[in-house]
Amino acid sequence: MSMFICDCGGVLLVKSIEEYPARVNSTEKLEYERKCTVECVDCRSVKENQRYD
Ligand SMILES: [Zn+2]
Repeated sequence: MSMFICDCGGVLLVKSIEEYPARVNSTEKLEYERKCTVECVDCRSVKENQRYD
C-alpha cells in the first residue's frame, strides 16, 4: 500500500476499508483490490474509493 497524500500536502489516514465480498474466496482475496476511505489529518477532507491493496 502506498502512502496517501492529500491535495493540501497533509497525510491521509485510512478510516475504513472495504470488506471482501462473500463470493471472494481466499485465493481471490490475494488479487482483489479493496477500496478504502481516507481522511486528511490537516484539512480533514475525506476521500472515498481509494485503492487500498
Ligand atoms: Zn488535506
